[in-house]
Amino acid sequence: MSKQKLLVMKFGGTSVGTPPAMAQAVEIVRQARQDWPSVVVVTSALSGVTNLLLQSAQQAMQGTYHAAESQLRQMHQAIADQLINDMARRAQARQEINHLLAEFTNLCRAIEILGEATPRALDAVASLGERMSVRLLAAALESAGVPAQFVDSTQFIVTDAHFQDAHPDMEATKRRVRQILEPLTSQGRVPVVTGFIGATTEGVITTLGRGGSDYSAGILGAALPADDVWIWTDVDGVMSADPRVAPEARTIPELTYREIAELAYYGAKVLHPKTIRPVIETGIGLRICNTFNPTHPGTRIVSDRSAESTVVKAVTAIRGQRMITIEGRGMLGVPGVAARTFAAVASTGTSVPLITQASSEQSICFAVPSNTTEQVVAALTKAFAAELADRDIDKIWAAAEVVIITVVGIGMIHTPGIAGKIFTALGRDKINVIAIAQGSSEVSISMVVEAKEADHAVRTLHSLILEENAHG
Ligand code: ASP
Ligand code: MG
Repeated sequence: MSKQKLLVMKFGGTSVGTPPAMAQAVEIVRQARQDWPSVVVVTSALSGVTNLLLQSAQQAMQGTYHAAESQLRQMHQAIADQLINDMARRAQARQEINHLLAEFTNLCRAIEILGEATPRALDAVASLGERMSVRLLAAALESAGVPAQFVDSTQFIVTDAHFQDAHPDMEATKRRVRQILEPLTSQGRVPVVTGFIGATTEGVITTLGRGGSDYSAGILGAALPADDVWIWTDVDGVMSADPRVAPEARTIPELTYREIAELAYYGAKVLHPKTIRPVIETGIGLRICNTFNPTHPGTRIVSDRSAESTVVKAVTAIRGQRMITIEGRGMLGVPGVAARTFAAVASTGTSVPLITQASSEQSICFAVPSNTTEQVVAALTKAFAAELADRDIDKIWAAAEVVIITVVGIGMIHTPGIAGKIFTALGRDKINVIAIAQGSSEVSISMVVEAKEADHAVRTLHSLILEENAHG
């Protein structure tokens, strides 16, 4: 590997979740330092911790809180005991963890007394997972002879006050990131930075949304800037399909930014979709690799221009969706139906993964997660009360559960007839397609199928991918 300058490596929850996993992460960092003059580490909370923290807050709200504190203490202490050799250092790490756990207990008590938890309070609770994990990982690195320093990203990831889904201010973040991290890297220390969290300009803790540690790595990579960002997870990069559904699925060696963006958006769980944007904008290399199989090259994300010719690369599924339809012959004349529809949906905080409109304009149809349908239909019924009364809109309803299957590949742009092949294959296997949408980028085609046919559809389309690639 060529001597480049700065590498950001992000470890996911499973990569630091147990003593052997974290030991492996430590080894990965130790080795990377031989090839890279500067390494910055970003880490998630230990796997399961964020869930446990938020569950506790939920219970506190309902007055049924029973302390998860001892479970959390045990998880973190097991790691401290096994990976921090120096006794004084171990005692210090324990004390820091205890301190954060005391903060956790206080927050839960406050929530219990108030009987409510604001998004701001939930972010304070959720932030504790990463604040604990960085302290352990930094100490474990030092035990392995790697000079390291934990850093709370609340010091430099500056965000708005949109708690639970905060948006970074990149300019402010850039200035502070350099101020705080450069002194460390220039001394040859490895900063170990909390993923997932930031703070407002007033210093109030925010989070970037669940799974947001990847995003933190992207933000940091862009702000420094890094030459490369590597996301360490527990699978060999991005697979051509979910191997539990399609056993012949294999790692995709190279994906373009647009392909990975579509895949992340359409349910491939390997990468938080927001990670990609800051990284593309600065042209930073991105790689997804496996902590538990570190010699595997994983998946490289390359610029859209350097795309290889493979037409279709992957198929994914978003499960647990329902299609909502707004239908009425009078809709043709009603102004702004689509705008009002999606404003009403947005008011419920629901995001819409797929939209189709028949050209007759007599219906609009879109998917939303099943658990939001009641709320969404209620919001629409309210928004169109007048049109419903006048019979311009006949009905608004949610159909049975469906799955959105998406086929992704940048080569589709230049390859006529690929949609034909997709639907021929599905037709041959007697899979009924309920709705179709093609991404405007032409990098993906999505189709909606009944939930019970989803796995079959994934296998059919994955076979098509294998065939196409064999010819390719
Ligand atoms: N710990 C956070 C979560 O579980 C962030 C992350 O793991 O990326 O959502
Ligand atoms: Mg994650």
